[in-house]
Amino acid sequence: MIDTRILEITAELVNAKNIVIVPHKGPDGDAIGSSLGLFHFLRDKGHNVQVIAPNDYPHFLKWLPGNEEVMIYETETEKADELISNAEIIFTLDFNHLSRCGDMQNAVSSSKAVFVMIDHHQEPSDYADYTYSDSEMSSTCEMVYKFICKLRAGNKISPEIATCLYTGIMTDTGSFRFSSTSSDTHRTVADLIDKGAKNSEIHNNIFDTNSENKLQLLGTALQNLKVNHEIRTAYISLSQAELNKHNFKKGDTEGFVNYGLSLEGIIFAVIFIEKENEDMVKISFRSKGDFDVNKFAREHFNGGGHINAAGGRSDVSLNDTIVKFNRILPEYKEQLTR
Ligand code: 5GP
Ligand code: MN
Repeated sequence: MIDTRILEITAELVNAKNIVIVPHKGPDGDAIGSSLGLFHFLRDKGHNVQVIAPNDYPHFLKWLPGNEEVMIYETETEKADELISNAEIIFTLDFNHLSRCGDMQNAVSSSKAVFVMIDHHQEPSDYADYTYSDSEMSSTCEMVYKFICKLRAGNKISPEIATCLYTGIMTDTGSFRFSSTSSDTHRTVADLIDKGAKNSEIHNNIFDTNSENKLQLLGTALQNLKVNHEIRTAYISLSQAELNKHNFKKGDTEGFVNYGLSLEGIIFAVIFIEKENEDMVKISFRSKGDFDVNKFAREHFNGGGHINAAGGRSDVSLNDTIVKFNRILPEYKEQLTR
């Protein structure tokens, strides 16, 4: 997006009182961090702002400043519908297609509000009046930081904003190790630390608040790991029964897929998680280098995401999903081994 368009947003913001911010369904650290970072910024400017998440999110994000202000669409649908229809501006964060806001899609798409998309996924759709999309960016949080700076309001970044944005950059970059992490990303987090983000505390709040159940579930996941060195691929599966055994809570499987990628020589890692009550298998794909899991997820598993991190779903059983995956895999042997 070019700067003159940003100036137009400034004009929209002058006139708008009611603003709604929407992260994607199954919100992660980047989705909630960017939503709350932008929430604090706009509220400090005097707007009525409401973050509405399509559904609930993991416990390890609930310490974020402003968390108590987040409305969950699934549980407060009527109130949320009213806020959405009265909104003058709707910011959609960390997703590129309205279907990613789940059951909120109808309410959101029928709103007369001005839409602003801020997102770092590839191939954005064109529903927004203002689209700030850049798939080179590490995270939507890094983009919200840039957005605030482009509005010449970098000096308005409070410790709360800094904390929210730091958190999402950290989670989406795997603690600054994925290849999406640029020198600019480091300059951004350095500035966020200067502005009040307590980096060590944030790492602790996100990564060192595990339950015993979660660690034991990780043990099961690692026992289930299957490795195919020949095609540099590893995958993990978790059945509903295994999740139940360890009293699964939302977010407990976050990051498990990365263990496959930590194996020497492995460049493609997958986790299949059976979701009995949704009648589907949730799949996460991760890769290293130029193996494009966004494409793989779009083509075979009804999903999408980024080159090195994508998600998808399957409507057949866990077993049949894995059979399908193993049947497809040989087609990619050349790409995975060159
Ligand atoms: P995860 O595997 O952690 O759920 O998602 C990895 C990345 O892919 C995230 O950036 C997420 O937003 C995106 N993603 C996950 N599931 C889907 C999906 O079903 N469709 C699309 N387009 N993107 C997804
Ligand atoms: Mn993101």
